Amino acid sequence: MNYQDSSRILIKVGSALIAPSGTGCSAQYTLPIARFIQQCFEDGKQVILVSSGSVAAGRQHISCKTSKPSVAQKQAMAAIGQNTMMANWMRFFDKPCAQILMTHAELRDREGYINIKNTINELISNGILPIVNENDSVATEELKVGDNDRLAAMVAILSDSDLFLICSDVDGLYTSDPNLNKNAQQIPQVEEIDSKIIALAGDTTNPLATGGMRTKIEAAVKATSNGIATILFEGSLPQNFENFVKGSSIGTLFKPQQKSLSEKKHWVKHTLNSKGIINIDKGAVEALIHKGASLLSVGICSVSGKFERGDAVDIHCQQTGKIIAKGLCQYSQSTIEQIKGHRSEHFEKIIGYIESDVIVKRDDLVLLDLK
Ligand code: GLU
Repeated sequence: MNYQDSSRILIKVGSALIAPSGTGCSAQYTLPIARFIQQCFEDGKQVILVSSGSVAAGRQHISCKTSKPSVAQKQAMAAIGQNTMMANWMRFFDKPCAQILMTHAELRDREGYINIKNTINELISNGILPIVNENDSVATEELKVGDNDRLAAMVAILSDSDLFLICSDVDGLYTSDPNLNKNAQQIPQVEEIDSKIIALAGDTTNPLATGGMRTKIEAAVKATSNGIATILFEGSLPQNFENFVKGSSIGTLFKPQQKSLSEKKHWVKHTLNSKGIINIDKGAVEALIHKGASLLSVGICSVSGKFERGDAVDIHCQQTGKIIAKGLCQYSQSTIEQIKGHRSEHFEKIIGYIESDVIVKRDDLVLLDLK
């Protein structure tokens, strides 16, 4: 995957690039990154930024006698540093920037997952740059995604990005640790991340970074197995961005793998229990099977079971009774009772609001074997 072929890019920037001196926020590396993001916009690309740096940005304000702050101290640092980190990015852009803070709890919960996805899509379609970070101030260890490499991979997947750029303090994956071995060679391209590649990932030597090479490789595994090309490169070198835009290769490219089913569809199909049934007419069956469409309310004949927004449901053909698909609903069963058979233009009149134009989005729907 090169710059030209990408359309939605997720770019992850780590603390070491935001606070090179260990505290505060600096323009030193973030300005060239912002210039690259601006270039992406000019070239018609969509961008999502996952930015660390809140803890480092808030460090100077919280007194801490030891070199290792406690969880509460880090949470306080994140609370004070998050807006400094946001302000540091915002000063570079003419367009608005939006802040999204999340923990693993929201990502694990389908409603939370859908809400984050919808929010990101809505922001992007309004020309706004979403800036995502973990909500460190509220996250306990169990609720934490843990590090922003993993968080960024999850957001790359949920936002359907086609390119995942990990701006790091190393210029890609090496045959051995370049800090320890002068003869270490950079690996320009990885076809598939196998056990040998995983074995090459040592751990971080940078005290500021939460994740090390291992978490970067794990993030790359997640993203590439969901069909997202991933590039790990040195984010402190402006020429990397310039060269990349010109079509040159940078860092290490982890090639995307063929995905037969997206991670989420796999989750929907194999893990979730359906909470209800939606029966649809022949036209809607045709649209789902042959036109790659979302499920619209107008094609719904009846609904049964008890489910809420975000739950999984089975979708059946009213005429044959056969199961056609399974998907995540944008509305509860009681709301669908009211709007079934109607077009979305009428939702507002019937229920007083529009949560979504469709009942099940195509991205949230998996067709089932019809045999
Ligand atoms: N969320 C943390 C921060 O904003 C950083 C975590 C990480 O970089 O992995 O400082």
